[in-house]
Amino acid sequence: MQQKNILHGPPDTIPQFKNLSMGQLLLNQLSVHGNWVAQVDALTGRKQTFKEILIDSQKLAVALEKEGLKKNDHIAICSENNIEFCIPMCAAFYLGATVCPLNPLYSERELKHALTITKPKYIFVSAVGIVNILKNHNQLFWLPKLIMLTESKVNKFPTIKSLTSNVTVDSSFHACAVDDDHVLVIPYSSGTTGLPKGVMLTNKNLLTVIRHFAVSTPEILNTNVITLALLPFFHAYSFSVLLVRLAFGNKSIILPRFDEKMFLQTIEKYRIEYITLVPPLMVFLAKHPIVDKYDLSSIKDIWCGAAHLSEDIAKMVAERLNVRSIKQGYGLTETTLAVVKLPNNSMKYGSVGTLAPGTSAKVIPINGGESSEPLGPNKMGELCFKGDLIMKGYYNDEKATAATIDKDGWLHSGDIGYYDEQCYFYVVDRLKELIKYKGYQVPPAELEALLLTCSGVKDAAVIGIPNEEAGELPAAFIVKQDGSNITAEDITKFVNERLSSHKRLRGGIRFIQSIPKTASGKILRRVLRDTFKSKL
Ligand code: ATP
Ligand code: MG
Repeated sequence: MQQKNILHGPPDTIPQFKNLSMGQLLLNQLSVHGNWVAQVDALTGRKQTFKEILIDSQKLAVALEKEGLKKNDHIAICSENNIEFCIPMCAAFYLGATVCPLNPLYSERELKHALTITKPKYIFVSAVGIVNILKNHNQLFWLPKLIMLTESKVNKFPTIKSLTSNVTVDSSFHACAVDDDHVLVIPYSSGTTGLPKGVMLTNKNLLTVIRHFAVSTPEILNTNVITLALLPFFHAYSFSVLLVRLAFGNKSIILPRFDEKMFLQTIEKYRIEYITLVPPLMVFLAKHPIVDKYDLSSIKDIWCGAAHLSEDIAKMVAERLNVRSIKQGYGLTETTLAVVKLPNNSMKYGSVGTLAPGTSAKVIPINGGESSEPLGPNKMGELCFKGDLIMKGYYNDEKATAATIDKDGWLHSGDIGYYDEQCYFYVVDRLKELIKYKGYQVPPAELEALLLTCSGVKDAAVIGIPNEEAGELPAAFIVKQDGSNITAEDITKFVNERLSSHKRLRGGIRFIQSIPKTASGKILRRVLRDTFKSKL
């Protein structure tokens, strides 16, 4: 019997790429796309074909196997986006080893924490990442071997090139088979609410992502398609998209970091058609005057995810750039990529979309206890998901896994949201971030979305500050647009005219230079709370 108020995405009947290991899939697809250009470094113009990726990654796999790297061993890649990133990734997949991508700009504490969780045997590292790694290397109780992604004049560590210079690959080379639940990647969550968690994503999880793209986005299954790879590969969102691009043969123009001019110049120069973005970049595209100086008419579709995208900002971008669609998606590192996304040829501003194929969802009452019934349409509660996109668990942390995936296999997202009568989902905010004002719950994301529509406001973040009488008071941190004279009074008036009384910024308004964010574009409200506390 079907349980009431459990929603199901369309059945997953997609035939492509079933029963393969990711290594087998990539080996096959890289050779199919052969001499097409796979990646271009936007800073240097350096190009790399699919065939070059294939040859370099095969050679590296042979070298690593000789050194003793085995199935299920861990390797880390600690790098900003560059065209070498995919070489150790593919090599590890051929051997059945697990890839742990690391943010090269992690603080010492985060890096040590991340390395201690997964204990990789090898760390493939960029010139940016090595600085951080060396600070921590002596503090680790086992010693990973360091291999530079590219030549480096400042240290003597081996490079991929030096490791593979005498290697030959013979025709018997093959990628090993793995089970569905083989752990392919352990990306770390963004660390928005605490230290990053090591999330085990399986062969099935990532194959499912690629297979879904084959039907949900047929326009990208083509070697002529040009995309921009700006979001960091070390985050699950962009890592999955990297695999999709390699599988379907798209040409990716790679940027290692966000720089206003470089970003816009790259889109204009390479006539970028598809981009994956996060909300802060959408705010930039919607509001920054510099955007008008560039020809961005090549952009067809924008995908956006990872944090709350305000309806107004989405509309502003769609209008300003005249793009075909802005496709929102919602997911967690723990759900591989999007479990909910806007279906093809549909636009519903404000909604994150409908369920992915083969995925089920329910919305449960907040603090309702295990046995409470799932809620019907338009009722706000915690979003829970089940299906082939859900992680295997947190690495070496059964307690955290059990607290997130219940005994019936439901992943509890920690996010508050609802679905409407057409089964479109809406994400309100994180449960942990809701501000409690006199028994009311105020989602900071709603206030932030409103503040961003105020002219003179470049960026905004809202937190609850403790208050004896009310519990918490909403307070805003504001970054002014360059040259703007906007005052706290102007902003208060703007908000008071538009929102009900309990949502007003009674905790005050503070002007700051920039809002702290994670590499995946999420507001670090905990950092703002700490800043606020330290100034008391
Ligand atoms: P950590 O779990 O380490 O504290 P994190 O939850 O930010 O960090 P991620 O897995 O990168 O790490 O992010 C998942 C979260 O991002 C979701 O739980 C949700 O809060 C937010 N999110 C993702 N997509 C959207 C979206 N489209 N709209 C609103 N929020 C989103
Ligand atoms: Mg999380």
